[in-house]
Amino acid sequence: MNQNNKMENISYLVSNCKKCDLYKTRNKPVVGDGSEDADIMFIGEAPGYNEDMQGIPFVGKAGRILDELLDSVELKREEIYIANILKCRPEENRNPSKDEIENCSVYLNKQIEIIQPKIIVPLGNFACKFIFEKFGLKYDNISKIHGKAYKIKTIFEEIIILPMFHPAVATYNPNTKHILIEDFKNIKKLLQKTKL
Ligand code: URA
Ligand code: SF4
Repeated sequence: MNQNNKMENISYLVSNCKKCDLYKTRNKPVVGDGSEDADIMFIGEAPGYNEDMQGIPFVGKAGRILDELLDSVELKREEIYIANILKCRPEENRNPSKDEIENCSVYLNKQIEIIQPKIIVPLGNFACKFIFEKFGLKYDNISKIHGKAYKIKTIFEEIIILPMFHPAVATYNPNTKHILIEDFKNIKKLLQKTKL
């Protein structure tokens, strides 16, 4: 199976998934978006209203901020890949439950295997905690770890994890936006260092 077919297979599995109750209330599942050859992968939490309507991640308010941040380091959405932990929208945008994360993360884990990113940028508490634990790192508070590069050695490769605040926070807290702008500069530095 080539990359494309592998991702299509995940879309198919997600479209038919009934592993948690969220499939009942969702409009469209949101699998992911961007280039499957991307060296950098962003991971959000779950679809919101706009994402659920369009079936595409980060297309609402938080998405506009993410686009601005990507612009600030001259990255295009076609050059990166974005996915969420949950593929279906939790009603009223509530936090994902532990069970939902456990059930749904099989898809995200497969996506990470397919993309094989060199840099993973988890956005917000839930994504940061998930990615830290997945790679055996101890998770502390996001305000202590954001913007720092964590190097992980797997049997096959080296991955850099660069945790960040969720862009949605910047929609109501301008200070977070400044922090995100600064942290995004580290993406640029890392990309240059790893000569991607
Ligand atoms: N917030 C997320 O975490 N993901 C989206 O796709 C949109 C908003
Ligand atoms: Fe399946 Fe994930 Fe949707 Fe739950 S949120 S139904 S686990 S795809």
